[in-house]
Amino acid sequence: MKRAPGMLQCSKCGGRDTMTVVTGSYIGQDGKIKRGTVTADKVCYHCDKRGILSFMVQDPPKLVQEPKPRRTKLKSAN
Ligand SMILES: [Zn+2]
Repeated sequence: MKRAPGMLQCSKCGGRDTMTVVTGSYIGQDGKIKRGTVTADKVCYHCDKRGILSFMVQDPPKLVQEPKPRRTKLKSAN
């Protein structure tokens, strides 16, 4: 299958279906589901069904997410 520009596509099976895993969702007092923390994102659905973990985007998986600190001024690299 030809890869469309910018489209996420699994490099192992060519699938284009992604999964996002959210941990700790809950129902709030307004009765709506509150999303928890994303623990895995852009995982290939087809590979996962076969027991293969394949990320569409080759980021290292982030299993623990901490609140991002406010970005401060970066020190000059010079
Ligand atoms: Zn796949």
